[in-house]
Amino acid sequence: MKTLVVVDMQNDFLPGGALGVKGGDEIVPIINALIPKFDLIVATLDWHPPDHMSFASQHSGKKIGDVVKVKGVEQILWPDHCIQGTHGAEIVSTLKRDKIAKYFYKGTDKYINSFSAFFDNARRQSTGLEDYLKSKHVREIHLAGLATDYCVLYSALDAADLGFSVTVIMDACRAINLKPHDEELAFAAIAARGGKLVSSAEIIFQ
Ligand SMILES: [Zn+2]
Repeated sequence: MKTLVVVDMQNDFLPGGALGVKGGDEIVPIINALIPKFDLIVATLDWHPPDHMSFASQHSGKKIGDVVKVKGVEQILWPDHCIQGTHGAEIVSTLKRDKIAKYFYKGTDKYINSFSAFFDNARRQSTGLEDYLKSKHVREIHLAGLATDYCVLYSALDAADLGFSVTVIMDACRAINLKPHDEELAFAAIAARGGKLVSSAEIIFQ
């Protein structure tokens, strides 16, 4: 079953949002064009409680981009974003959502962040995505969404670790680039783990 995992296409990650990713809006029509090419579409949603410990606002004297340890796990600090039930956490309304079979929520535990679509950053809790995909006998996934250098990257690496064949649709993702080359480093790390990198055109015009 040809499966697309759409990562974190939420208002807060689009330009103008709380953690806007440059060009995040440009990938909406690309993902919309990809959707009819897949048999199964699932989506992840970053879904934080308002006092999530990955928010800089929860750590006095710390700023966005700082790294702190919470319960032994390193957390990069972000602006408050994707708070459960808010407009910012909603999936982008211009995305074709009717074919999304199921949503998987991540970052719901106050004390630990979750970049990956599969697990939290300490791999203590699963989002349920692995079991769901395996129950549908999915062995191969494609990834698109936000952001290349965090949630797409860690989802791809975990997918490879879990035995899925993984393909990242490069132009259907956008990076945060906290450091200027993070996007390239992310693609290189995915390729090094055996992930495939393709363009949307290779799928849409197949
Ligand atoms: Zn988050």
